[in-house]
Amino acid sequence: MILIHKIVKKCRNCPARLEAREPVPGTGPIETRVMIIGRNPGDHEDRQGVPFIGRAGQLLNKLIKIMGLKREDIYITNLVKCHTVGNRPPTPSEIDACAPHLAAEMKTIKPKLIITLGNEATAKVIGGEVRSNRQKILDGSFDGGRSAVKIVCLYHPSYGLRSVDGRKKLEEDAVWVHDKLLELGLISPDEDGMVLEEILNGEIL
Ligand code: SF4
Repeated sequence: MILIHKIVKKCRNCPARLEAREPVPGTGPIETRVMIIGRNPGDHEDRQGVPFIGRAGQLLNKLIKIMGLKREDIYITNLVKCHTVGNRPPTPSEIDACAPHLAAEMKTIKPKLIITLGNEATAKVIGGEVRSNRQKILDGSFDGGRSAVKIVCLYHPSYGLRSVDGRKKLEEDAVWVHDKLLELGLISPDEDGMVLEEILNGEIL
């Protein structure tokens, strides 16, 4: 993974590089079953070189807790590794140019579950049109079809920052993910109890 991060940081394969301070590779442990994929770094992430550390990242941290997971146990990355001015959506050619970096991260991590955040990441990971995938577990694959993976598609946390309704939907979806993680055996009932206690104490929401 260190080599992948070095390659990402030196990459100049598309025009988005001209808008970023430097590419932001993913972060988190290699030994993990869960990978989260967002769209591309925002301004905070561009300044500090770490994905999801701005306001959307803080909301993501809360959602991760509701899911019964710990951020430090998850590999978090983006579809496109470079910030774009004004947070403009990356173009299809920029997404394609950056795809080998994401593929390399996935091949190294070999996640059992991928959580996508927003339409762009979802479309790339499921390899097709984004329909109504809310609160569904999809079957997918990577590494040329050699590795199977479960996929959960969430709204991007920035949606939760823009509207109360968006925040409510994200929280509902995080609770749903939590229940599915229990069913899949990716979290234990112990973690469930801890998180529910924190929610009841108002430490999360
Ligand atoms: S967005 Fe991806 S492909 Fe484009 S320059 Fe940055 S790291 Fe390279």
